[in-house]
Amino acid sequence: MLRLPLAVLLVAAFFSVAAEEGKWTPSQVLELDAGELRQMGLQIAPRDLWDPAKGSGLLSAAINISGCSASFVSTTGLIATNHHCLFGVLQEHSTRERDIISNGFLARERGQELPGRTTRVTVPRAFADVTAQMEAAAANATDDLSRYHALDRKQKELVAACEAKPNRRCRLARFDGGVQYILQEMMELRDVRLVYAPPRAIGEYGGEVDNWMWPRHTGDFSIARAYVSPSGEPADYNTANVPYAPERFLRISQRPLREGDFVMVLGYPGLTYRSLLAEEMRERRDLFFARRVELFGEWIELLEAVSKDSEEGRIAVAADLKSLLNRYKNAQGQMDGFRRGDLLNKQLLAEREVLAWAASRAEWQPAVAARAELLRHFEERLTTWERDFLFANIGAGPKSLSFAQTLVRLATERTKPDMERDEAYMERNLRSLLATLERQQKSYFPEADKQMLLALVERARKLPSGQRIEAIDALFPTSLSRQELASRIDALYRNSKVLELESRKAMAGESTEALRARKDPFLDLAFSMEERMAGYREAERRWEGTISRLRPAWRKAVMAHAGKPVAPDANSTLRVSFAHVAGYAPRDAVAYGPFTTLSGVVEKNTGKDPFAVPSRVLDAAKAGKGSRWKDAALNDIAVNFLATGDTTGGNSGSPMVNGYGELVGLNFDRVWENVANDFGYNPAIARNVSVDIRYMLWTLEAIDGAGELLAELGITR
Ligand code: GLU
Repeated sequence: MLRLPLAVLLVAAFFSVAAEEGKWTPSQVLELDAGELRQMGLQIAPRDLWDPAKGSGLLSAAINISGCSASFVSTTGLIATNHHCLFGVLQEHSTRERDIISNGFLARERGQELPGRTTRVTVPRAFADVTAQMEAAAANATDDLSRYHALDRKQKELVAACEAKPNRRCRLARFDGGVQYILQEMMELRDVRLVYAPPRAIGEYGGEVDNWMWPRHTGDFSIARAYVSPSGEPADYNTANVPYAPERFLRISQRPLREGDFVMVLGYPGLTYRSLLAEEMRERRDLFFARRVELFGEWIELLEAVSKDSEEGRIAVAADLKSLLNRYKNAQGQMDGFRRGDLLNKQLLAEREVLAWAASRAEWQPAVAARAELLRHFEERLTTWERDFLFANIGAGPKSLSFAQTLVRLATERTKPDMERDEAYMERNLRSLLATLERQQKSYFPEADKQMLLALVERARKLPSGQRIEAIDALFPTSLSRQELASRIDALYRNSKVLELESRKAMAGESTEALRARKDPFLDLAFSMEERMAGYREAERRWEGTISRLRPAWRKAVMAHAGKPVAPDANSTLRVSFAHVAGYAPRDAVAYGPFTTLSGVVEKNTGKDPFAVPSRVLDAAKAGKGSRWKDAALNDIAVNFLATGDTTGGNSGSPMVNGYGELVGLNFDRVWENVANDFGYNPAIARNVSVDIRYMLWTLEAIDGAGELLAELGITR
């Protein structure tokens, strides 16, 4: 242990090469200095990662699973990802009699695997730069709203043309506001089934106490399988379907993983904010994350309270509650990171430097002007910020209101030609929208929903004048006491049918007239909110148009000033991050090692949730040191490890591969000090947390006796 601080320092000093910062796109990977990557530890050729001409390579095994990342790990469609990524499927199939959230799940044969009704996998196929076409489409726009519409139209055309090929699912991704537009061609698999998940006490060991923390001891892994029709086409769930045989899959590494080793993170990071102006970052810190902590904090408290004494309630709210808790703590970490890292000032200084550089160069004058104009429009948006925040969060809140709004939008949008609809309501998306409307019934718990709505309405009633939501004011006048408010809300639930599955399914096919004729109180509320909501959506679109016009000009100046490749902000597209296994020093006089072990799992055991190690794990752990999965250097089973990966939300489940392209772990988190790296990379604390694949293998073998599954993963005795 004494040698640790030195090791930490050495690793930090030795490997802090340029490419370690950045979530690189597949085409950028091919532009990076191959010699430097080799020096870092990449053993395979960059072209083995991705061959743009063939649309294949190791990266084609890195897939997206319902917003998380994952990888194919067998020729039989097996997929490795995080426990928390498939938690929704566990919740979907849990009942009081068979609580697989708590107990875990293992399909002993294929017929037992559990379909995730809304679980989808996308496999990358091709990426095409369509920036010139997008820019041309917007060239004649007269204002930012028409600019938005011109871009939106072009995007839909490109996607439609791309999806004209059989079995393709396409998406147009915008990078840093429009510096680049890339058409993403993917194959979507719609029959995805849960094969294995450990008990919650392993998969979520440490719970919210340890979330976003190190040292960590969580077995955040699970396994799914993708199916296709007997003729090999993507298909809806059907018992006649057969396992999908991927073109590439990741082999599980048989080499020990050690401190200092080179690793790569392959996956789909969701959203980062590094290309924002300092003032926009201030909004994230002072408004967005601050209000998120307040609103989610309130919802969490009441969800926990109402489900406390009900087994059924606990299962119903489990997935929503977990997601709220995760984002709540993340928001706190972001704010904390701003303070520690002095991030706002750093961005201000960096911006000033670019400004001074650009100001003295004639060709960059438009960039200076673009920044100033972007700032002006941004300030204007703040005047309705509080109301817009509530609008944006309805979907994360009470199902009553979000169901009703979806039904009203569905009826309205369906009357338009497909290409003019809001994207979520286009024909190509309706199937999954309807499946979600149905699937969410399992997450509906009346008392929780009522309380969430009450909390939301109370917030709406406190909005400043000029930001009022008239429909809420009319239904819940400020003269009502809290008691009266609660009983009015009760009455809405009593008289509404949007929360009954069969009625809701019928409503999903009805016209606006038919929905109005129902006189359903939640539908009526949604209708009366619609005018304000439509105004809000239009303002959002106009702002998107503004961003697309101004941000790229400024970003190009920032990149020219940097004089080296700059990775774009995350946008849920496939990226690669190059890293090393390394510990770090979080604070004065403290140094963290990069590995935790099975002994550490036992050491943390209190017998009480979230540190209650199941007795069979305790028993097996005693024999663990004799296991074939033991690491000789640690003299123990490695459980979690740290690396310098540049990751964010969406990277959950990302395969961590070694220089040979073999699977060594699954990314699942970042350390507390690194949560705010969404705003800037700091090599001293940039650490992502992964579960060591050997812990998964050990668990499958020693706890679950899953020999057949191990054999499918290429592991035999
Ligand atoms: N644990 C994270 C999450 O659930 C994923 C990875 C990250 O954000 O670093 O959002």
